[in-house]
Amino acid sequence: MRVIESAEQMEVFSKALRAEGKTIGFVPTMGALHDGHRSLVQAATDQNDHVVVSVFVNPTQFNDSKDLEKYPRTFEADRELLANAGVDVMFYPTVKEIYPNDLVPEYDLDGLDEAMEGPNRPGHFNGVVQVVTRLFDLVLPHRSYFGEKDFQQLAIIRHMTKKLGYDVGIIGCPTVREKDGLAMSSRNVRLDESAREKAPIIFQVLNELKHGIPETGLNKAISNAKEKLAKSGIELEYLEVVDSISLQPAKDDSVGLQGCVAAWLGGVRLIDNLRVK
Ligand code: AMP
Repeated sequence: MRVIESAEQMEVFSKALRAEGKTIGFVPTMGALHDGHRSLVQAATDQNDHVVVSVFVNPTQFNDSKDLEKYPRTFEADRELLANAGVDVMFYPTVKEIYPNDLVPEYDLDGLDEAMEGPNRPGHFNGVVQVVTRLFDLVLPHRSYFGEKDFQQLAIIRHMTKKLGYDVGIIGCPTVREKDGLAMSSRNVRLDESAREKAPIIFQVLNELKHGIPETGLNKAISNAKEKLAKSGIELEYLEVVDSISLQPAKDDSVGLQGCVAAWLGGVRLIDNLRVK
């Protein structure tokens, strides 16, 4: 596996593969890799001739500088995991390589950032679209792989890829969980023992919400879910049920509904979601 740090070399490498008629699968990550990332890499290696994985902690998607500072960085372990997974290139650029100047373009996300993560993390999705499009311009992928764990992010990337005219297939991959249901996340290593013990309640509550909706109706199921989280000592940032495509608040005639949660446990922010209808 090659480790490429320069933006220019990344582009040269990808152009050469494209000239040979090879397909490129791309998995963007912020490192501290776990089995969730590994499942994306597996899908990419199954479906493409070559696979590039980027490891880049993107400063423009953090609205909290402490969160950026505390984000885990585990280069050696990441390199080993990617080499063992059959990846061709680990793209590991510096901030200067990705952003040679400080300009941050403003994207119109067509309302997809109005709910959930959007109001709670101002500028976050703008930064996500900025980095993903910059990476697409360098890696030139045919397909790119994203986790359903970050449900709103996946919806925004699908929409913006089309809107900005990128010919890249966006593939959503199911959330990989610990045995007790906790969604795998790079942030989980920061949970202390007591927070880690409580964390699976988030997924339990999402499942109860799913079963509760046909039994008690949407509003009661949501208030029951919020009550259970409050009793467990988990500090809820939001629990919302939205239309799975438009991300607008659930309506009775919505075909698919997604229950989405962001919560704080011992100073760590966790998110999770589940298809509830
Ligand atoms: P991150 O490194 O957290 O930015 O995540 C990189 C990619 O991995 C994103 O597309 C995430 O949605 C995806 N991902 C993170 N955790 C999981 C998980 N537990 N299961 C599936 N995909 C995940």
